[in-house]
Amino acid sequence: MTAQYTTQGDVAVITLNNPPVNGLGLATRQGVADALEKASADPAIKAIVLTGAGKAFSGGADIREFNTSKATQEPTLRSVIAAIEYSPKPVVAAVHSVVMGGGLELALGCHYRIAAPGCKVALPEVKLGILPGAGGTVRLPRVLGVETALNMIVSGEAVDSQRLAALPGQKLFDQLSACADSLMPEAVALAQEAAARHAGGAALPLVRDLPCTHPQGEAYFLFAGNTVQGMSKNLPAPMKCVQAVEGAATLKFDEALAKERELFQSLMQTPESRALRYIFAAERAAAKIADVGPEIAPREIKKVAVIGAGTMGGGISMNFLNAGIPVTIVETGQQALDKGLATIRKNYEAQVKKGKLKQDVVEQRMALLKPTLNYEDIKDADLVIEAVFEEMGVKEAVFKKLDAIAKPGAILATNTSTLNVDRIAAFTQRPQDVVGMHFFSPANVMKLLEVVRGAKTAKDVLATVMALAKTIKKTAVVSGVCDGFIGNRMIEQYSRQAGFLLDEGATPQQVDQAIEKFGFAMGPFRMIDMAGNDISWAIRKRRAAERPDMKYSKSADLLCEMGRFGQKTSAGWYDYAPGKREAMPSKAVAEMLEQHRKSLGITPRKIGDQEIALRLVYALVNEGARILQDGIAGKASDIDVVYLTGYGFPLWRGGPMLYADQAGLFNVVQAMKRFARNPRDDAAFWQPAPLLQKLVAEGKTFNG
Ligand code: NAD
Repeated sequence: MTAQYTTQGDVAVITLNNPPVNGLGLATRQGVADALEKASADPAIKAIVLTGAGKAFSGGADIREFNTSKATQEPTLRSVIAAIEYSPKPVVAAVHSVVMGGGLELALGCHYRIAAPGCKVALPEVKLGILPGAGGTVRLPRVLGVETALNMIVSGEAVDSQRLAALPGQKLFDQLSACADSLMPEAVALAQEAAARHAGGAALPLVRDLPCTHPQGEAYFLFAGNTVQGMSKNLPAPMKCVQAVEGAATLKFDEALAKERELFQSLMQTPESRALRYIFAAERAAAKIADVGPEIAPREIKKVAVIGAGTMGGGISMNFLNAGIPVTIVETGQQALDKGLATIRKNYEAQVKKGKLKQDVVEQRMALLKPTLNYEDIKDADLVIEAVFEEMGVKEAVFKKLDAIAKPGAILATNTSTLNVDRIAAFTQRPQDVVGMHFFSPANVMKLLEVVRGAKTAKDVLATVMALAKTIKKTAVVSGVCDGFIGNRMIEQYSRQAGFLLDEGATPQQVDQAIEKFGFAMGPFRMIDMAGNDISWAIRKRRAAERPDMKYSKSADLLCEMGRFGQKTSAGWYDYAPGKREAMPSKAVAEMLEQHRKSLGITPRKIGDQEIALRLVYALVNEGARILQDGIAGKASDIDVVYLTGYGFPLWRGGPMLYADQAGLFNVVQAMKRFARNPRDDAAFWQPAPLLQKLVAEGKTFNG
């Protein structure tokens, strides 16, 4: 039963019980409706309390019902709320922990509300590209005032119940319980008082009967609309939230409800909302590995060691310190160790300056960090993460040492970006304990963690790392072993294509602007200037020996030969003022490109923004298809999660694979064939991946 019915004297208690967060799926909604009827029909019952079992009142809609007919089947949430409103017996919502989305809308339909301390209250629908569809936009402004409600609805952020209860004139909560344990007895008492108060037939209080106005009326909504429009140009939902709340303040209650419904339905159809809902599910799906079920117990991780206190080692360590897990950090020399520690402290101090962290918290975290030059100090670590130079010889020496020193059962992880994890594992006598943990730079900020599964990686090692990723607030995606794993293997094709665009006549700024207009956070040339052109130069040299058939535009090598490594040398694809990050078009680069095209005998042509964007995105899609077909990624949505969390792909487009699905794979292949006819393009580049061809032939998509 997903909604339980019990009684406490003359009070019926309906308890939502649909773990993990009492999602309001069809069975639960039906359960509540049935329980309400039962309570109404029982003359011994005078009042009703509605609450949630476990760790939430309710988190709202049941995501497992997304995109199924169950989501709209009667009784819908709106019908359940109507049943509560019509109930002749008072209904008290006893809320605790999580009161979100449909959960909050349900509580707003009740006659009275009592909250336990520390509830997280939110209408987060906007994060899925929609708006609350069961009266949330019409009722919340009535209990919290238009401005507070609109801020909550447009941001989707959770607010603490105490903060809301302290707002002058608020009508969201009639009462706060003294503590979590006293919530139910206090709720039952409140229900009994209400029953006594209304015994004579006095009308029950309804949120719909409260007034909803804003003193500045039209002017306020104009201002709110302009602000929201400016902040969310690619997302329609926030603006519709403003319109819905404006409806609440200007229309009759039921008309406003109808308007909310209309706006909700129009948003459900938008590609942006489909993309956001897809990502929401994709992130959860990424955490699940097909052959690693819940029966595989993770290993216990109490102490972590990090090898190398450079750019990555420092950032990686911070993740664990932030989660309260002690870290021992190993370096080869005192100077490098001191520098690494100073950087970590500097990063924390910067957060203190911004008011995001308290000084005593910094000290607590730094106290968990043990610097050392002695590998012996990490022999009791449960997890060791290696972040030393990207050279197989250096990795070999480190892993042989770790094999000799680490305790049995310790997980030995490498942060390598490009090297073969199976070869690294083979340096040890315990390849089953070796795994890749590919963090992204800056490792303390970036959400993505590619978990690289070696041929011999044990299942419980994977289960441990996936669970740990949650603890340190990363989005983990499993990748098989290949050069570049999922993300960098795809970005290589994207960069190659960006180079071909230069050869044909585009400028770096044109390419960057076209893909930024498409929605990427940063174009390929600005990005590589930030990361360092010398690093990819070294990788290209290595690959040239390993894969001589892989053709690149020579322009990137020519750039490096000019000593233009990017922001660090104040010169890359762009010019930079010393110490500044603003990219300015470079005359020297334009001349180099002109010379380079001449040497190839190319007459430059003007390439449109649309072609530039599609060529870059379809380069990702084609390699993504190969990655899927090779089994490097378990599912297409994993690839999208990588691109959204690690590579700045526009969130509202849902990732390259969903973008291709929505464009239609047939059209994607047609475009590839068109690009292959470009005189300067590498026709082999646009050979559609066999999986892509197969899906087109079968009329299918990447996502099933
Ligand atoms: P880095 O040069 O900043 O740091 C490497 C550190 O390792 C140096 O401080 C060095 O003194 C130390 N070191 C070298 N040999 C050691 C040993 N035997 N024992 C202990 N310490 C040793 O390099 P980085 O950018 O932090 O990269 C480290 C690893 O992370 C590489 O494998 C790299 O491919 C990978 N990675 C880097 C990035 C990035 O953007 N920088 C992103 C993802 C992964």
